[in-house]
Amino acid sequence: MAVQKRFIAGAICPRCAAMDRIRAWEQNGVRYRDCVNCDFFEQLPIENEAVPELDTRVNREREEQRREDFQPVKILDPKGR
Ligand SMILES: [Zn+2]
Repeated sequence: MAVQKRFIAGAICPRCAAMDRIRAWEQNGVRYRDCVNCDFFEQLPIENEAVPELDTRVNREREEQRREDFQPVKILDPKGR
């Protein structure tokens, strides 16, 4: 599966100090960064940080669709609205 690597505008490589040479991407719950100018590379686990907004929206829409499918069975949410 192709992973989209994006350059971080204005980011400075901590190793070679080159600007706009840092790429970042995420895969399998891990955030990666590397530098195309030198061999700098790091990975950071994504824990309870903000989930990418797009992901959340898609998941929510799917959940709502599922609720519509199950309309005959009314689920009472104790949390209310
Ligand atoms: Zn570098």
